[in-house]
Amino acid sequence: MDKFDRIFEFAAEQGCKVIRNAPMNKYTTFKIGGEAKLLAEVENKSQLSKLIVECNNNDVEYIVIGKGSNIIVNDNGLDMLVIKLSGEFTNIDRIDDTTLYCGAGLSLAGLCKEAEDNSLSGLEFAWGIPGSVGGAVFMNAGAYGGEMKNVVVSVNHIDKNGKFGTIKADELDFGYRHSVYKENGFTIIGAVFRLKLDNKTEIRNRMDDFMGRRKDKQPLEFPSAGSVFRRPEGAFAGALIEQCGLKGASVGGAQVSPKHAGFIVNTGNATSEDVRSLIKKVQDTVQKETGYYLKREVIFLD
Ligand SMILES: Cc1cc2nc3c(=O)[nH]c(=O)nc-3n(C[C@H](O)[C@H](O)[C@H](O)COP(=O)(O)OP(=O)(O)OC[C@H]3O[C@@H](n4cnc5c(N)ncnc54)[C@H](O)[C@@H]3O)c2cc1C
Repeated sequence: MDKFDRIFEFAAEQGCKVIRNAPMNKYTTFKIGGEAKLLAEVENKSQLSKLIVECNNNDVEYIVIGKGSNIIVNDNGLDMLVIKLSGEFTNIDRIDDTTLYCGAGLSLAGLCKEAEDNSLSGLEFAWGIPGSVGGAVFMNAGAYGGEMKNVVVSVNHIDKNGKFGTIKADELDFGYRHSVYKENGFTIIGAVFRLKLDNKTEIRNRMDDFMGRRKDKQPLEFPSAGSVFRRPEGAFAGALIEQCGLKGASVGGAQVSPKHAGFIVNTGNATSEDVRSLIKKVQDTVQKETGYYLKREVIFLD
């Protein structure tokens, strides 16, 4: 029995749904990636905390993912346990008139809809971002002038030793696509959001407007991980890439979207190696021709 067999048995005993050799292309919006040794769906805090401790005891690496909309998983797979949050981690509670608590495993769409149903404004920008609440807090996801930073009051987590804790807004170190969770390796289990009461129709109109802009500009008909690169100071990644004549450039099944040069899309059979090579080609060309080095926003998982 190896260490992954032990974690498999432990997770199953705790009542988690756990599978071996999980095909990660099924768990990422890019539809790319080899198999993870194990993937467990965890439904409650007790299971999660015990599983983290058991991974530590067995020297098994783990990673918690959300909707897999900002990751590129290696073709060779992941020698680790992948954790997905379900069950109680998808609950939402209304704390008071303008405050919601939301589990990290819920989709951002679910949170946005709940806010709209309660006539709460502040999350319209997130309508159309295909991530989970945990992934959005981790990344400080943002669009159209909004970002998670503006609405998150505090975040609940489990640390690397399986202990529960809370970090308040002023210590979350939110910045451009950055939060303290990118550094500390803790697992986000839920967050409190402070919103504003507003007219429901106006909230819906803003959501529709943002979704319409996405549909117009983004290649939503192809699998991708959204914008590949961070916005460089004083410029736009997509415009620089287009300026270098790279729109439509491809490596294998990976292509710089002809619709939006900031996106790389999977035209059908892209491997992670194709995407990595294309990213490198874009970075090298843009740097040579414009002097800007495009840093990656998407996360490589190896
Ligand atoms: C079509 C498209 C459009 C997009 N548009 C936008 C946009 O407008 N703005 C924007 O900011 N992003 C956008 N994205 C990128 C992506 O949706 C966001 O970054 C989103 O927040 C990622 O959430 P996720 O749940 O998919 O995270 P994943 O991709 O699953 O994970 C991303 C990182 O977060 C970590 N993570 C996830 N959940 C947890 C948790 N509970 N605890 C600790 N760590 C966790 C993972 O380990 C990983 O390192 C877009 C992507 C696509 C495909």
